[in-house]
Amino acid sequence: MTKQVVPLRGVVFSPMRYGRLCLLGDAAHLISPMSAEGMSLALHDADVLAHAIVHQVEKDDPSVLESYSGTCLAHVWERQAAAVWMTDAMHDSGDASYRGEFRKQVALANLENLVTPRSA
Ligand SMILES: Cc1cc2nc3c(=O)[nH]c(=O)nc-3n(C[C@H](O)[C@H](O)[C@H](O)COP(=O)(O)OP(=O)(O)OC[C@H]3O[C@@H](n4cnc5c(N)ncnc54)[C@H](O)[C@@H]3O)c2cc1C
Repeated sequence: MTKQVVPLRGVVFSPMRYGRLCLLGDAAHLISPMSAEGMSLALHDADVLAHAIVHQVEKDDPSVLESYSGTCLAHVWERQAAAVWMTDAMHDSGDASYRGEFRKQVALANLENLVTPRSA
């Protein structure tokens, strides 16, 4: 039996706005499929941009549109961090030959705590 490690990557293009060009969704960022959040991030970007454009048109105020990239990137990096954490935990908790028995037990404890927090 052969085993192959498939690279899971995250990519963020920053800033997400250049002049009148705004990047949204996968065009702006790719997130590890482990978190299954690519569509959620794309919808979040679209929601922020739609509100910013409406604000610009109705109030003649470009401030919300100008903060579009920063608003989205704060959310994107927060979700990228969670995706990296989840990807590492999933990988480390499997075959101990990957990153060792210690990392495996830490990852298993983290996943256990995720589904059954100690405070519960
Ligand atoms: C196998 C798989 C499973 C996934 N599972 C999940 C999941 O469970 N949950 C989740 O949240 N996300 C998931 N995703 C990620 C999610 O599908 C994407 O992050 C999301 O669709 C990105 O939306 P988007 O609008 O940015 O891009 P897209 O959905 O790719 O839309 C871009 C559109 O632009 C069109 N287009 C491209 N070039 C041109 C052109 N030159 N002219 C005109 N149109 C053009 C394309 O045809 C496409 O319709 C998954 C992705 C894959 C591949």
